[in-house]
Amino acid sequence: MITRPSTHFLPRLSRVRGELHAAALDAFVVTHPANIRYLTGFSGSAGLVVITQTRCDLVVDFRYGIAARAAIASSRDLESAVKVVIPPESYDDTLVALLRESEAFRIGIEAAYLPVSRFNRLSMALANGVPTQHSTPDPCPILVPTERLVERGRLIKDADEIGTMKEAGRRIAAAALEVPALVREGRSELEIASDIEAILRRVGFERTAFETIVASGPNSARPHARPGARVVAAGDGVVLDFGGVYDGYCVDLTRTVQIGPSRPEFRRLLEAVAEAQTAAIAAVRPGVLASEVDRAARDVLTRHGLGEAFGHGTGHGLGLEVHEEPRVGRSVTGLPETPLEPGMVFTVEPGAYVEDIGGVRIEDDVLVTQAGCEVITRTANR
Ligand code: ZN
Ligand code: ZN
Repeated sequence: MITRPSTHFLPRLSRVRGELHAAALDAFVVTHPANIRYLTGFSGSAGLVVITQTRCDLVVDFRYGIAARAAIASSRDLESAVKVVIPPESYDDTLVALLRESEAFRIGIEAAYLPVSRFNRLSMALANGVPTQHSTPDPCPILVPTERLVERGRLIKDADEIGTMKEAGRRIAAAALEVPALVREGRSELEIASDIEAILRRVGFERTAFETIVASGPNSARPHARPGARVVAAGDGVVLDFGGVYDGYCVDLTRTVQIGPSRPEFRRLLEAVAEAQTAAIAAVRPGVLASEVDRAARDVLTRHGLGEAFGHGTGHGLGLEVHEEPRVGRSVTGLPETPLEPGMVFTVEPGAYVEDIGGVRIEDDVLVTQAGCEVITRTANR
């Protein structure tokens, strides 16, 4: 007999059901692919999930039927909890049929991911299906916009996710050790970027997490420069920012290298940013606000006269998406602050960008632990 591992999916589903109860929702429709994957393990590009207190239906079209059944069958707890439904016609006809069958009245949707046109079509379809529409005061099911309902759970990684992300961190750290040797006079940014991507595939990433950044010389002063035909020249600083997806999870890392002859003004930038990153990582521990981690980096750069040169936030959460919660930046009036908790994973990536000198960014990924944090992308060549 094959024993299949039980997984962390059921706790994730029951957390969502708790949220539904708290928000007085009878059903919840998940349409964001990262959230569908988080709740069911299914990773296709299309599909939806309908969750009530007693049922969970994963609706996927014919193309994904086999993959969806395999995802559900891979863990014994999911198989009993999730039913795969293949729509005979359209997704939304099936969705409306499932919702009617469930007799849900207040139906949560993911406001950030359901287009207004689809929201309107679904609302109309649900209204038309109510035979007693005119005979009772308010019998029509309503779609209720929700925000971050699944994302609130994704913020804290569970043991499965932590294991995957640590492995991804080890792999990208191994890739990072090979990167400085790719940066040589006479090579173009595009050549270097394609070599980095080849290394990422070789060390086991299924794809890049975003378009690789190789920004050399004056381009390095632009934080999100795209690699181009520019050829690396003597004295250049080169920012290399790359990410990989491993078993669905993203890691993200930046190194800045300088090729000789060394310029003292660029060296100073490098040292200031390295000091800022060390200070920010040292500030990470449970209970601290994410904005305090940002402030730790910003204070160091300000002390070096580089406050103005650091024009972005210190970091962003990582997981099934390359930019997720928590946001690690300055506190913003009106936005709730995130106190750090064990199990959060985010980048720490201060930078300084000065026209005529160049730009520096150093990025690593940290996991918040009970005692502080663990740098999961630690390399010797930071
Ligand atoms: Zn990055
Ligand atoms: Zn990043």
